[in-house]
Amino acid sequence: MTAAFVRHDPPGVLLPLVLDSPHSGEWYPDDFDHAPPRSMVRQAEDTHVARLWQHAVAHGATLLEARFPRAYIDVNRSVDDIDLALLEDGWPVPVTPSRKTEQGIGLVWRLARGGVPMYARKLTAAEVQGRIDQCWRPYHAELEALLEARRRAYGGVWHINCHSMPAVGDALADDPGHERADFVLGDRDGTTCDAAFTQCVADAARGMGYSVAINDPYKGVELVRKHGRPADNRHSLQIELKRTLYMDEVTLEPTAGYGRLERDLAELTRRLAAFVGERIPATFP
Ligand SMILES: [Zn+2]
Repeated sequence: MTAAFVRHDPPGVLLPLVLDSPHSGEWYPDDFDHAPPRSMVRQAEDTHVARLWQHAVAHGATLLEARFPRAYIDVNRSVDDIDLALLEDGWPVPVTPSRKTEQGIGLVWRLARGGVPMYARKLTAAEVQGRIDQCWRPYHAELEALLEARRRAYGGVWHINCHSMPAVGDALADDPGHERADFVLGDRDGTTCDAAFTQCVADAARGMGYSVAINDPYKGVELVRKHGRPADNRHSLQIELKRTLYMDEVTLEPTAGYGRLERDLAELTRRLAAFVGERIPATFP
């Protein structure tokens, strides 16, 4: 099996700044026998997001990038957010389906975008368990190890969880029909990072002319919830980028805005690197 993720380590200065792109994977495993056409299933991807943030690595950040697609298994869901309606043989331990599972987009998605069934069959518990073991666990383990290694080395770590969002909420969204801000920052109502980290990103993005919303309509889900622990000086912030800033939402092709956003994210990272640098205690390197 191909590795579940790619990790990009900076060549020079290392900072306790970690980015992860959990939904931009474009490697579709052979056993992912989705029923709708690939073009429809790909609407679930955060296409281009890892590439857009790639310059962060040159500023000393480490970037973790999932290779598998989100629709195969979603690492931004809890591992027990299992949809029993998907399974032909039940699940061996108790499950905790969230509202996302009720919407068909839990740990393993039952529905493609537009509400079309993802599979023409039921899945076995063994194959869902295989996706957890091959993708979900290695990804979370790598992120946890990376964050904890940086925190130990520098006394704290700052983590950006990188996503993209449709420009307008669809029928299943919490904001159907509403045009989103350019950037939506999510810190689960101030619980996953220091407020100054959220403010630093908001100020930088607004200064570049982007509209920014905070925790509306996206507060952040499992990755920032599980890995952000401000009391331990581990800070996780979710950033959702509006797709129409840089791509055609139907063809997924980059648009003329791609280059500008890529340059602005590099500048944003430069400011984050300065923010993080000021917060590394003097006793650390
Ligand atoms: Zn995402």
